[in-house]
Amino acid sequence: EIRTRFAPSPTGYMHIGNLRTAIYEYLIAKIQNGTFILRIEDTDQERYVEGAREVIYETLRSVNLNYDEGPDIGGAFGPYVQSERKEIYKEYAEKLVELGGAYYCFCSKERLDQLRKGSESQSGAFEYDGFCKILTNKEVESRLQNNEAYVIRQKVPKTGSTSFEDLVYGTITVENETLTDGILLKADGMPTYNFANVIDDHLMEITHVVRGSEYLSSTPKYNLIYQSFGWEIPSYLHVAPIMKTAEKKLSKREGDASFQDLIEKGFLKEAIINYIVLLGWSPSTNEEFFTLNDLREQFSIKGLSKSPAIFDINKLKWMNGEYLRRMSTEDFHQVAVPYYTELVHSEIDLKKVSVLLQPRTEILLEIPEKIDFLAELPNYDPQLYLNKKMKTDLLIALNNLRASKEELSLLNQWGHDGIEGCLTTLAATLGVKNGQVLWPVRIALSGKASTPGGAVELAELLGKGETLRRLEVGIQ
Ligand code: GLU
Repeated sequence: EIRTRFAPSPTGYMHIGNLRTAIYEYLIAKIQNGTFILRIEDTDQERYVEGAREVIYETLRSVNLNYDEGPDIGGAFGPYVQSERKEIYKEYAEKLVELGGAYYCFCSKERLDQLRKGSESQSGAFEYDGFCKILTNKEVESRLQNNEAYVIRQKVPKTGSTSFEDLVYGTITVENETLTDGILLKADGMPTYNFANVIDDHLMEITHVVRGSEYLSSTPKYNLIYQSFGWEIPSYLHVAPIMKTAEKKLSKREGDASFQDLIEKGFLKEAIINYIVLLGWSPSTNEEFFTLNDLREQFSIKGLSKSPAIFDINKLKWMNGEYLRRMSTEDFHQVAVPYYTELVHSEIDLKKVSVLLQPRTEILLEIPEKIDFLAELPNYDPQLYLNKKMKTDLLIALNNLRASKEELSLLNQWGHDGIEGCLTTLAATLGVKNGQVLWPVRIALSGKASTPGGAVELAELLGKGETLRRLEVGIQ
């Protein structure tokens, strides 16, 4: 049985790269009826953020990435929060020492600072010099007896190389001299990611580890731990990062959008999911639109890419617009209504507003600005009446507005076809082009050159009284 896990750190927001990893993990399990679990990686207690776990639970639920095991729902392999597994890591770290894969290190902060300075002056990365590797068992025993502070470090070979197969990147080989005797268990008894991920993935019987490509180069180190314990190594799928530009990764710290930010900007969660899945995975057909359910059938590991993709907000906007257009009128109305705040107490038929907006909206947040003039006619620049294409100037506009007002005031049935008939008949009678009537009316009704719908639709929405009143304002 396939078992995958999503293992976020509780940061208080959902980075969209992490969310994408969660989708891949979910799909890799679900295409084979496997199990998808959630594990919270909170061993960095200094970074504790109130409510951060809930953000993770809620985000996953809201996009239907339903996990089969996790902190808030339990399961046979819990606890699913790393800070609640301290004892487990200690036990396994001690065992790893016995097995020869790790050692106690009692070096003081001062000594390590000295070492760090030394390595900086040689412009190398900090590397522990193995000082405590040669301590005898007896010495270690007595220092532990004395309650000396310690960490447990991994013992890595310094020669040769280590390879593994990644299902996305192929064979990865790392020279052992680049591996360091990194800390596995910290002085506060908490494990580092480097240790906890191995212990948990093994104990939780994870078959496929899916994570960002930044972990590619340390995976050989993790495999050494699996080997020391005699454990089976899982399959690995490292995925390429989502980039902001060719050089820069997308990062919340750099002010880039998290999932919540995108929701607040008015994107639909379905469109976000669809878009980010495609940043790193290509379907076998030209189809671009996928629901999570479609993906449960059509996803395949083969489509995962090792080249980074650039997050293109304009492409997401386009896709979001497509999602809006593909909705039923009723569903669009439901999602749009919260953006009609200024209009809810007006006489305006909101369903009709939705019909006008649906084909013209890319993100919901654009809506208030698109319809603000309906609630209140803005002050506008009379120059708007000048339009080359429509062949209008100020004098033509004035004349045609006057005539329009007069004709419309005689119209009894206030509906789309009636208004349209009235204004086009007027244009014919005056011997002018339709646009020479319709353009000035649109400006008078909205004060804007760009509106959802033209003169006829706006007049219908505003109703007879308000239409005549706005035409009168335009005439003055
Ligand atoms: N907690 C790690 C992260 O958020 C998880 C990496 C992994 O999936 O192993 O980057």
